[in-house]
Amino acid sequence: MTDPLDEAGTVTGPMVRAWIEKSAGVLADNRAHLTELDGPIGDSDHGNNMDRGFKAVVQKLPAGDDIGALLKSVAMSLISKVGGAAGPLYGTMFLDGAKPLVGKTCLTGEDLAQFFDNAVAGVMKRGRSEAGMKTMLDALVPASEAFKAEIAKTDNIADALKAAAEAAKQGMEATIPMLAQRGRASYLGERSIGHQDPGATSSYLILQAFSDAVEEAAK
Ligand code: ADP
Ligand code: MG
Repeated sequence: MTDPLDEAGTVTGPMVRAWIEKSAGVLADNRAHLTELDGPIGDSDHGNNMDRGFKAVVQKLPAGDDIGALLKSVAMSLISKVGGAAGPLYGTMFLDGAKPLVGKTCLTGEDLAQFFDNAVAGVMKRGRSEAGMKTMLDALVPASEAFKAEIAKTDNIADALKAAAEAAKQGMEATIPMLAQRGRASYLGERSIGHQDPGATSSYLILQAFSDAVEEAAK
């Protein structure tokens, strides 16, 4: 396929802005679905948390194309607006992910690989968690791995984001048979088995929004 990114094959500030706005849209559309998933293994607030958080994110998004600054602002809004586990965890994801991107107005595949590495490491550290524990990491870790593998193979960001979103979807579905080992769902022990993790679901939606935003920017 032809490279659908800008001429230099990078992700630009406006694309990142479109990603964040699209995320807010799909999280609003999936508010009831996420809250429903958080019923049997949580406290039925994940849809509200994410919708409220991303509405605040969009409202406070700064002007300008410094991608590090944009993503840092996302983090600060989530940390201040979203209670519970997901706010600080997603906040840390964007905050740590943004660190290597400060001052950059366009991102190469390598920059994005670094973003994913830092973002995932941030969530792991903050949550004292890893993949396999039935959390958002079960979507984020395979997505990050798929992104890096595809970039190494093709150096095509749009294809790599597509691969990341697909891996996140599979990771999300793979949480169904898992036993929860972190967060509220872990209080249920064996009864957490058989339910899809709400945080893995919102992570998939955010990554799919990234892939879609970048693809649409090319049209
Ligand atoms: P709360 O559990 O405080 O009500 P949310 O319902 O908004 O917060 O978010 C729940 C999601 O947070 C879970 O589905 C899970 O994906 C994620 N989560 C909870 N604890 C952890 C953790 N320690 N590490 C990673 N993700 C976690
Ligand atoms: Mg909850």
